[in-house]
Amino acid sequence: MNDRTTMTERKIHISLPSTGEEECEAVRESILSGWVTQGPKVAAFEKLFAEMHQVPHALAVTSCTTGLHLALAGLGVGPGDEVIIPAFTWIATANVVLYCGATPVFVDVDPATNNIDPEDVARKVTERTKAIIPVHLFGLCADMDAIRAVLPDGVHVIEDAACASGASYKGTPAGGLGDVASFSFHPRKSITTGEGGMVTTVHPELAEKMDKMRNHGAEISEEQRHHGPSPWRLPEFNMLGFNYRMTDLQGAMGLVQLGKLEGFIEERQKWAEHYCSELEGLDWLQMPRIPAEGRHAWQAFVTRVDPASAPHTRNDIMAKLNDRGVATRPGTHAVHELGFYRERFGLEPDDFPGAHDCAANTMAIPLHNRMDAEDYAHVVDCLRGLD
Ligand SMILES: *Cc1c(COP(=O)(O)O)cnc(C)c1O
Repeated sequence: MNDRTTMTERKIHISLPSTGEEECEAVRESILSGWVTQGPKVAAFEKLFAEMHQVPHALAVTSCTTGLHLALAGLGVGPGDEVIIPAFTWIATANVVLYCGATPVFVDVDPATNNIDPEDVARKVTERTKAIIPVHLFGLCADMDAIRAVLPDGVHVIEDAACASGASYKGTPAGGLGDVASFSFHPRKSITTGEGGMVTTVHPELAEKMDKMRNHGAEISEEQRHHGPSPWRLPEFNMLGFNYRMTDLQGAMGLVQLGKLEGFIEERQKWAEHYCSELEGLDWLQMPRIPAEGRHAWQAFVTRVDPASAPHTRNDIMAKLNDRGVATRPGTHAVHELGFYRERFGLEPDDFPGAHDCAANTMAIPLHNRMDAEDYAHVVDCLRGLD
């Protein structure tokens, strides 16, 4: 009876950031140092991030969204250009295309992976296609080889790696699978700096251009100016830039978080496998795909409720789990069904049946680094009890 009471009072969040005294100490040090905007901590964060993702260039920015915008601007994407994006993703993947005055071209996703469907990419390519933004949704890398195989030469590949810190595909980490990539450190992702992002690229000239563009287009950085010998020297500005600089407070926090990333993913991997084996018997609940060709970063554990065999509707299941203290969420949005895109481009739900299916039937269940064995047992118990 006692057991039962604690079980019903348990509250399991869909996601919680794992931060502690080390992050506090690092940020404190940064505040007391007197250098609080982009500086030595950001530089150290970028260096470690680049090393861990085996890419030559990493640039910290204010979010994954501004990082994607920077990437498109750096590649010169503008009016008249088409940019291919999946229809099932966070809205930012589409918004950044419009920030550049270019046209987002939606492509359907494969409900087995939640990722962009290369066959539909092939159908949507035109002579105006300038770039594609494959999304590594929930930490599972998109099938980059299959995507490349259907793209004409010269189409830029931009990874939306918001959920993919630490993920890999056929031996290559996310961040080096295209021309440029953007990661997120929003608290909902595996490591966080409050808000924040990281842009990576394999191209040195693009890195140099984006480095300037994130700092108003200035030819020399604040640090160079501050520490240089010529006090009269102001930077030259030869391009339109933005202020997308990360603060050194966030850089300091990010450095500590990054040191924990491997451990976070290993722990998530272990519990993801646990869910898969414990929930195997529920034939109405499909488990996420565990890739053989690389590493899933498990930003989220997203299941699919089969409407034909589930004991209740997906939404009723979510409500019942909520009553027992288990938070769940739909995976993400079918962007073509959101008011702004639906109206502006005259889109119908059926235009992208895979994305529509994903939005209607996916259900993320709790998986993060602030859960213990009893929490996982409770989630499994609640799901089994629904039958
Ligand atoms: C979270 C997320 C973003 C946005 O990241 P921010 O850092 O909040 O800008 C973009 N794309 C995808 C797929 C995401 O999950």
